[in-house]
Amino acid sequence: MSDCIFCAIASKKSPANIEIETDNVIAFHDLHKDAPVHILVVPKKHFESLNDIKDSDGLIIGELFLVAKQVAEKLNIAKSGYRCIINTNQDAGQVVKHIHLHLLGGKPLGPLVQKDLK
Ligand code: AMP
Ligand code: ZN
Repeated sequence: MSDCIFCAIASKKSPANIEIETDNVIAFHDLHKDAPVHILVVPKKHFESLNDIKDSDGLIIGELFLVAKQVAEKLNIAKSGYRCIINTNQDAGQVVKHIHLHLLGGKPLGPLVQKDLK
């Protein structure tokens, strides 16, 4: 998509600090990190959100997790642990409308959901 920042990064029209790239997926450092390690794992194909994937997209979505695992190993947080998050639409706080998996780690991250939000 022409005005999508992650499409621009995937096609090298915009810069990014890339850790791993495959034919289908690119993994790069988040500009505003929320943890010592904060990587975005992004399919090169544009999908606005998880709501837009089809059965035939299973392999490419699965590859996001395979690349996340590889990045965690490369950055030495596989053993200490990490969290993978995909935000979808406004209640989750999705800002960039191109599917991306946040890989967070490098410190204890605490509980994902506060009890008082339930
Ligand atoms: P989300 O709220 O799940 O849509 O997350 C979007 C993430 O993309 C945020 O953590 C931003 O810091 C990050 N981000 C936005 N633009 C860029 C960029 N050009 N390079 C790297 N990360 C970006
Ligand atoms: Zn895009």
